[in-house]
Amino acid sequence: MILPDSVLGVLGGGQLGRMFTIAARSMGYRVWVLDPDPHSPAGSMADRHIQAGYRDPAALAEMGAGCAAVTTEFENVPAETLEFLEARLPVRPGSAAVAIARDRIREKTFIREQGLATAPFFAIRQRDDLEQACAQLSMPALLKTAQLGYDGKGQVPVTSLAEAQQGFAQLQEAPCVLEQRVELALELSVILARSASGETALFPLGENVHVGGILDTTFVPARVPSRLAEQATGMAQVLADAMDYCGVLAVELFLTRDGELLINEMAPRPHNSGHYTVDACLTSQFEQQVRTLCGLPPGATTLLSPVVMVNILGDLWEPVSPPWEQLLSHPQAKLHLYGKRHARPGRKMGHYNCLAEDLDTAIATAEQIRSALQGHGQQVDQTR
Ligand code: AMP
Repeated sequence: MILPDSVLGVLGGGQLGRMFTIAARSMGYRVWVLDPDPHSPAGSMADRHIQAGYRDPAALAEMGAGCAAVTTEFENVPAETLEFLEARLPVRPGSAAVAIARDRIREKTFIREQGLATAPFFAIRQRDDLEQACAQLSMPALLKTAQLGYDGKGQVPVTSLAEAQQGFAQLQEAPCVLEQRVELALELSVILARSASGETALFPLGENVHVGGILDTTFVPARVPSRLAEQATGMAQVLADAMDYCGVLAVELFLTRDGELLINEMAPRPHNSGHYTVDACLTSQFEQQVRTLCGLPPGATTLLSPVVMVNILGDLWEPVSPPWEQLLSHPQAKLHLYGKRHARPGRKMGHYNCLAEDLDTAIATAEQIRSALQGHGQQVDQTR
C-alpha cells in the first residue's frame, strides 16, 4: 500500500487532474502534475507542476524517480510514456487498458469480443473500406475518427456512400469507425473503481443528456427499471474484469428505443458524468482513483442523495462572467470551477451539483439555476 505523504504523479493537468489532486492532497498525499500548459488547472493545485511535454525524457525520468505511483487523466498520453513509467513504478490504469480505450476500433472490437453489444459498426482504415460498410449498415450513420475524438469532435454524420467518402476526406483519411446511428431512448454511464486485486465498487448508474455532442446534465439515480440498471453495471463489470483493470473506469451506454443496451465507449479514468460523486456519494470517483492507485480497497459508493450535475460551459461568459451569487445562494447547490483562465464557447469551465430529497426537486433547482445563469448574459446583451 502506498500511504499518505507519498508522492503521486498525474499525467495531464486539466480539470480531471485537478480534482484528483484535490482528493489526493486532502488525504495527505503529495501530487506532482506533468502538463505542458503553464496555466494548467491541476498544476496550480499540485505540490509540483512539471511543465513539460508528455514525451520529455528529463521530465519522465523525474516523475519515474520522484513518484511512488502514476495515474493519468486522459487516454491520449503517448503509449511510450506509459510504458517508460510502467517499467519503473506502478502506473494505474496500465498501458494495455489505455491502449484499448484510446482507439475506437480496438475498443469496439474488444467490447464485441466480450459478448457485449455496440451499435453496428465497421472499421474504416482506407477509402475502399467505405463501400462495403455503407452497403451493410443502414443509414444514417456517423463516421468517427478512431483516435483523438472527444465531445463530438472528429465526427461526421453521413447518409450515403458519397457523404461518407467526403467525410473521410474531411477527417484527413485518418482511421475511423463508421457506425450506425441508433434511435436513443436514453444515454447512461457507469463509473466503477477496481483495485489491483480485483475488488470492484460500482457507482449508481447515471442518466446523461448531451447537447451538441457535449455532456450537459447527469441525473442520479437514472430513471430506469432496476433490472436495466443491473444489466448496465454488469456490462461495465465484464469489461473491467476482462482487462484486469486497475483504476477508475467509465463506461458510456445507449439505451435504444427498442430497449436494448449498447456500449458506446469507455474512458480509462474518472469521467465528467461521474462528477456528481464528489458531493453525492460517500466516496468520490477521484478518491477512488487515489485509492486504486495506492493499492487500497475502493471506498463505499453509497449514494447519499439524489443529484443532478450540470456542466458549465464557456458560452456562459458571453459577455461577462455568470452571476455566481444566483447559484451560491442555493443551500443545496455545489459549485465547482476549474480555474481556467479563458472561457470559450463549448469549453468546460466547471459544473454544479444540486442535491435534494428527491430527484424532481433537484431537477427543479438545477433548471432554476441554469436560467438564472443564462438569463444574466441575455440581460446584459439587451443593454448593449
Ligand atoms: P461519442 O463521441 O461517441 O461519445 O458521441 C457523442 C454523442 O453523440 C453521444 O453521447 C450520443 O449523444 C451521440 N452518438 C454517438 N454515437 C451515436 C450513435 N451510434 N447513434 C446515436 N447517437 C450517437
